[in-house]
Amino acid sequence: MRMYDLIYAKKMGERLSDEAIAFWVQGVTAGTVPPEQSAALLMAICLRGMDTRETLALTLAMRDSGARLDLSAVPGVKVDKHSTGGVGDKTTLVLGPIVAACGVPCAMFSGRGLGHTGGTVDKYSAIPGLRVELSPDAFRASLMETGFANSAQTGDICPADRKLYALRDITATVESIPLIAASIMSKKLAGGAEALVLDVKCGSGAFMKTAEDARALARAMVAVGSAHHMRVKALVTRMAEPLGWAIGNTLEVMESVEILKGLDQRSDLARMSFRLAAEMLILGGAAGNLAAAEALVAEAVASGRAMARYRDWVSRNGGDAQALDDFSRMPQAARRVPVRAERGGHVQAIQGRALGLLAMELGAGRRQQGDQLDLGVGIRVHVQVGQRVEPGQTLLTLHCNEREGSPLPPDWITLIDAPCEPAPWLLETVEA
Ligand code: URA
Repeated sequence: MRMYDLIYAKKMGERLSDEAIAFWVQGVTAGTVPPEQSAALLMAICLRGMDTRETLALTLAMRDSGARLDLSAVPGVKVDKHSTGGVGDKTTLVLGPIVAACGVPCAMFSGRGLGHTGGTVDKYSAIPGLRVELSPDAFRASLMETGFANSAQTGDICPADRKLYALRDITATVESIPLIAASIMSKKLAGGAEALVLDVKCGSGAFMKTAEDARALARAMVAVGSAHHMRVKALVTRMAEPLGWAIGNTLEVMESVEILKGLDQRSDLARMSFRLAAEMLILGGAAGNLAAAEALVAEAVASGRAMARYRDWVSRNGGDAQALDDFSRMPQAARRVPVRAERGGHVQAIQGRALGLLAMELGAGRRQQGDQLDLGVGIRVHVQVGQRVEPGQTLLTLHCNEREGSPLPPDWITLIDAPCEPAPWLLETVEA
């Protein structure tokens, strides 16, 4: 078999056999396929697509390129959740302790952030001492003892995906539905969970800009999971404005604590986190329907059991649990700079992407892999879509240290004279 023939076939729009895909991925893992040939094939896939069978073969070949985590010793249906990434998305921080407090083992692997969206592992790094890179044994122990485990994916899981993702990043081939589906699902299948709730973001702040593309990605991932006996449900959710009031690592931990302490039950962030948690409880077998699952979630928060689980999980993984009650124990920015409204009006839109990029410039995110983060910096967003603001009112507070962000583009917020309503956050659900 020759890589040249695979590239040529895909360039002509032909489908690749399972054997051809396995040959490619094994060659990527072993380093015998030169990166320029992989780059050419990735571009051909981007332009010509892959059908369900090819996507499945690619997923499996990438899953099998490295180690797989065996969680069979942990009782119960292990449930994971994945979000395709958004600005201010800290739903994992909220739902992990809730799901665990409701008795469903919550086994999650998370990523580090790159570009305008943050990564869960970076957010957790704001909690002093918390271990965010767990060995397989430490991951299983956390899951056994606290019902919750969250770690950065270790280097031996899906090495082929890591190499291919790095190539996609520099060859404009990230935005391909089969490539994204195979990349995400290979890691999820290798991670050992038996059920998965997907939050597929759609809109200006997300990979998938249109509802149609987001739906297609959701369907592709659900199909791959189901073919592997993984119970998968996807929620397609809107990602235009930032999710919640916090962007930046310490700030996002603070916001997750507010929700788990029951101080915020009504924001989109709270409602989305509770819904995702409820879907995880259903897949994990703790509830038979949405109403029952939502009641369990509400009780776990109201009783303080979810917050207690958060503290317990943090301290068992080496972290300073007191930081969850005394935020001054987490890294803080030195300066607070308000951004005020130049005119009055109703907030019609907030560009999450623009705020995500500003937070990155302040040091909350990475411009490129390996960049050092400034965990205390970020943005507090004081307004929401639909709200009336007066001239001079504070719209944002920038939490910064020595780095200045680039100026915000003037259209980061749209103010109009007529009252307006926020659009619903949930667009649709997709299941097998
Ligand atoms: N996240 C991944 O893990 N892979 C992709 O291809 C895109 C987002």
